[in-house]
Amino acid sequence: MKKTWQSPVIQKMNGGLMNKFGTRTEYEPVKHIDGVSVQSLIKEYGSPLFVLSERTLRRNYRDAYRAFSTRYPSVQFAWSYKTNYLNAVCRVFHQEGSWAEVVSGFEYQKALGNGVPGPQIIFNGPEKTNEELELAVRNGSLIHIDHFDELFQLLAITDRIPEKPRVAIRVNMDTGVYPVWDRFGFNYENGQAWDALKRIVTSGKMTLTGLHCHIGTFMLSTNAYRQAVKKLADLAWRCKTELNTPLQYLDLGGGFPSTNTLRGSFLPGTDAVPSVDEFAEAITAQLTELGYGTQDTPKLILESGRVLVDDAGYLLSTVVATKRLSDGRRATILDAGVNLLFTSFWYDHTISPAQDFTHHTEDMALFGPLCMNIDVLRQSSNLPLLNRGDQVVIHKTGAYNMTQWMQFIHMRPNVVMIDEEGNTHLIREAETLEYLQQPEKIPAHLQQPEKK
Ligand SMILES: *Cc1c(COP(=O)(O)O)cnc(C)c1O
Repeated sequence: MKKTWQSPVIQKMNGGLMNKFGTRTEYEPVKHIDGVSVQSLIKEYGSPLFVLSERTLRRNYRDAYRAFSTRYPSVQFAWSYKTNYLNAVCRVFHQEGSWAEVVSGFEYQKALGNGVPGPQIIFNGPEKTNEELELAVRNGSLIHIDHFDELFQLLAITDRIPEKPRVAIRVNMDTGVYPVWDRFGFNYENGQAWDALKRIVTSGKMTLTGLHCHIGTFMLSTNAYRQAVKKLADLAWRCKTELNTPLQYLDLGGGFPSTNTLRGSFLPGTDAVPSVDEFAEAITAQLTELGYGTQDTPKLILESGRVLVDDAGYLLSTVVATKRLSDGRRATILDAGVNLLFTSFWYDHTISPAQDFTHHTEDMALFGPLCMNIDVLRQSSNLPLLNRGDQVVIHKTGAYNMTQWMQFIHMRPNVVMIDEEGNTHLIREAETLEYLQQPEKIPAHLQQPEKK
């Protein structure tokens, strides 16, 4: 087809120049997500609306997996359920080859429901009931022990059932990033971790399979992972030489940052955070320096969450109203609030208009629809003047929002996934009053609404 001629236009470039307020948010409207028009999505599924890009999920997974698997012979990813446990999202990662990493009994059940075999479920977290542990033991799942009380819980279970628990311990350590996350697992420096390992092995009742750590989240230091590798490898070496127990894997957890911009940070996230390649290089180089990566190499497990899913998620929203605050600042009220976008408490999410706009921009506050003072999506963002009915795209909302969202004042909206062919699928229905009230019970004396 012959292209139609269009007259040339001259557009002022702002070249990413920064002033003391940082960079301007957007220069171009975002009218499409993976080729599907924002307007048509909102028309069909309502506003606000969460959108997930299957293409981005798979691309992120493959890029991250390649970063590790080209540098180390045996790599396994385990999808962190709490980061986004919509089944459609989990299944994309499982199809790509990911195991499941869960931190509660219901997440464990979800993983089973998604068809993950027991031995491919990693059960983390500080609270596991006897019933949950027993089920995990029977299924041959990998149980990562968090504290001595859990170790004793497991020992008691081995008296009741024939299956031998497959366990690892979670280790916490000083990696040079402060404050140290020392509330989970056993401490390395004070000898607690080694003590736990000795108890596990000498009990003779469990199979010690590996070592685990998850040193923090949104980590900006690749060196911290080097430190973690050194300390886990030291324990692994001692397990092999002193306890005669070679380990099958080292699990380095998650924590790699997405490219969201932390609140108050001068540089945008895209410029500030190390890439997955840099983390992979630090971790695998350290392993290689320590002599791993040849024969008898323990598997390297990673439990990345946010870096795989954050930029695959969008929140679409519509302008409800605009107003002037008492100090003269412009404010824009959107129909999506912090009850849906929990991460706006620590990120400055990029917000793009979804339609053409004039070149006039202004610093404005962006508020949600909640009747609550804390409902602020952006304290200040330089955007074109938006009007009632205009639509916006909020970027990088895939991690931790679709699990930490709540029905506060407003219910949770539809969630759709755009597949690789550009077809849109509803993957979670908007909630209804009926759904919300279904678990409620009314005591007999309150059945009659009239005054006594
Ligand atoms: C939350 C969590 C993860 C995922 O963390 P991200 O920062 O999202 O990568 C991995 N492992 C454990 C044990 C976790 O609690």
